[in-house]
Amino acid sequence: MQKIKKGDTVQVIAGNDLGLQGEVMEVKKGWDASRRGQPARRNINKDRVVVSGVRIVKKHQRPVSQTQTQTGIIEFEAPIHISNVMLVCPACGEPTRVGFEIVDGKKYRLCKRCGETIDK
Ligand SMILES: [Zn+2]
Repeated sequence: MQKIKKGDTVQVIAGNDLGLQGEVMEVKKGWDASRRGQPARRNINKDRVVVSGVRIVKKHQRPVSQTQTQTGIIEFEAPIHISNVMLVCPACGEPTRVGFEIVDGKKYRLCKRCGETIDK
């Protein structure tokens, strides 16, 4: 089970955007499936999250086809590694580590700081 999910609020704990908070817009999947016994390809998007307002990069997009909607300089959020963000607990509002507890066979995430259940 992932510690960070889409829709969570996270705080950046390393790098240029240190201290910024934002909502998780996308969680990149952890691995590529191996095919025909070949080892899994290296995936640079492994264990990364896209957080709104964090790590905004500019891309110079030249017109490639008629159907392309955006050209020129495009700003968008680049994926950052999941270890560089920390979950912000909805109950106590602080960045926290995540624990797990099992209630009635269902697994819930737990705030290590205040002990509140994060998933309802
Ligand atoms: Zn908490």
